[in-house]
Amino acid sequence: MIEILSPSELPRARETGALVADILQSLRSRTAVGTNLLDIDRWARSMIVEAGATSCYVDYAPSFGRGPFGHHICTSVNDAVLHGLPHDRALADGDLLSLDLAVSLGGVVADSAVSFVVGETQPSESLAMIAVTERALAAGVAAAGPGARVGDVSYAIGSVLSEAGFPINTQFGGHGVGSTMHQDPHVANTGRPGRGYTLRPGLLLALEPWVMADTAELVTDADGWTLRSATGSRTAHSEHTIAITGDGAEILTRPTQPPS
Ligand code: MG
Ligand code: MG
Repeated sequence: MIEILSPSELPRARETGALVADILQSLRSRTAVGTNLLDIDRWARSMIVEAGATSCYVDYAPSFGRGPFGHHICTSVNDAVLHGLPHDRALADGDLLSLDLAVSLGGVVADSAVSFVVGETQPSESLAMIAVTERALAAGVAAAGPGARVGDVSYAIGSVLSEAGFPINTQFGGHGVGSTMHQDPHVANTGRPGRGYTLRPGLLLALEPWVMADTAELVTDADGWTLRSATGSRTAHSEHTIAITGDGAEILTRPTQPPS
């Protein structure tokens, strides 16, 4: 199903997007060496509840996970890249953490992910890999707009990832967003321009380039949820929810403050 928001619904989407951005930014600021992944989950839960929003994750039970997820945020560390189930682990200096959050507020969902390195040690390969996913995300946003095709967006994202030398996994990618978290159209992280669904104003899309340093193969952790690189190499993931507008695309989940 593809949902198109009416112009009067767009302000609600902006509100949800701003909330997701604020929560992620706040979690990023509070996270330090020694922070436990379960603390981050607890902080996320309290901010979601305080805002009167609903987690899209707690009851989420898709075919590919050992559902329901039962937590409020995905915390993927180092070789974990997607669907990281929070567990009792304290973050160490130099850990690469991806936080992925989706909530529903006023009937509209927003979905965003950010990757960063914790502590003083900032390995340059990790920072470069994160930067590539952010650049690919920006390229995807720039390619999105009314009349553009899903393939144009996928191609823009995939070009940045592959030019940077990363193999691209096509099992998981971006997606439509609306009253629920995952909707059509699927937005793969590689594709052919001029193909696929034609974007129109009022469509919300979550674009989410992610990479693993040296493989396209995922393995599922024993927890039944966390997806890791098959080689144990590090990974990175960046995601924004965007709204297709009359003349382009608007990022709904852009943080208003830089990370402190
Ligand atoms: Mg997400
Ligand atoms: Mg998503």
